Amino acid sequence: MEKLARKQIQALTPYLSARRIGGCGDVWLNANESPFDNEYKTNFTRLNRYSECQPKLLIDSYAAYAGVRSEQVLTSRGADEGIELLIRAFCEPNEDAILYCPPTYGMYAISAETIGVERKVVPLTQEWQLDLASIKSNLENVKLVFVCSPNNPTGNLVKREDIIELLEMTQDKAIVVMDEAYIDFCPEASTVELLAQYPNLAILRTLSKAFALAGLRCGFTLANEELINILLKVIAPYPVPIPVADIASQALSPEGLARMRYQVLDLSANRAYLQAGLSMLNGVTVYDGWGNYLLVKFSDGDAMFKAAWDTGIILRNSPIKDCVRISIGNRDECEKTLSFIRNRIAEIA
Ligand SMILES: *Cc1c(COP(=O)(O)O)cnc(C)c1O
Repeated sequence: MEKLARKQIQALTPYLSARRIGGCGDVWLNANESPFDNEYKTNFTRLNRYSECQPKLLIDSYAAYAGVRSEQVLTSRGADEGIELLIRAFCEPNEDAILYCPPTYGMYAISAETIGVERKVVPLTQEWQLDLASIKSNLENVKLVFVCSPNNPTGNLVKREDIIELLEMTQDKAIVVMDEAYIDFCPEASTVELLAQYPNLAILRTLSKAFALAGLRCGFTLANEELINILLKVIAPYPVPIPVADIASQALSPEGLARMRYQVLDLSANRAYLQAGLSMLNGVTVYDGWGNYLLVKFSDGDAMFKAAWDTGIILRNSPIKDCVRISIGNRDECEKTLSFIRNRIAEIA
């Protein structure tokens, strides 16, 4: 069977999501999910009929939240589908390339590989910022440049002046895709107002993180109308299930937005608590983070990851040496995690 698959797919290593890695425990801080399990009321009729391709209430609600016009919004099955639509719409297989800057989110590379699009890799600098000179010299055949801010897994923001320089450098040549999956935790850092000036900007958003709806699978791409219309050519005819549009619209109602903002404040307080507690410990470095997670460096990160795993505290190991990514859970989960790490460091000292 394997040899019937496309060669590219035979060679592909699929994305190892937190969910696929599994684990067994009662503290789950490995997938940047929200600890809040909000309730929604659902009452569906007319499920015998197809959904709207782009449900109007959902699009209008997100446009109002993001501060753009409805024509500038596309909704899809999570931000992950947005990544794939952009590559499928703009990159010619075996001809064009995407460019991304690791350490960063893994799906840009995997989607490109699946579609047969070349990947150009320009690592972030030591400070986890864009290496603009190196990007500039690697732009040949590049149609999409992916930039994640707050960056996953490092947590830092990419400097706005660098994003602007990148947009200038790529004008009429390539699209800069800003992955703003975590922007609701630091809305002031959004690049959304740059859309007015840069037709080559696209922004990815999601309800999976701050809106606590990872299981719903609802994301957005923001861009100028011309770009959105190109994506609409490649999207499936009925991409948004009726229940998804209904629940997502509730999450974007005034009450839903107020609850999201309240929960963001709560998680930010927990993040500050975890950061302060961890940074008091010997041999531990906590990097500043703007999302609902912190990247933490230990003297032996793999051992710490494994020890936590064995006690049922499931964290995320990272490609960065000795670093573990810890999602911000509720206060109880943060306290359990902090005291586990504190005790273990005391034990091995
Ligand atoms: C979680 C995440 C996504 C995917 O979001 P979905 O809407 O759940 O598909 C995209 N980019 C980054 C950086 C993420 O962390």
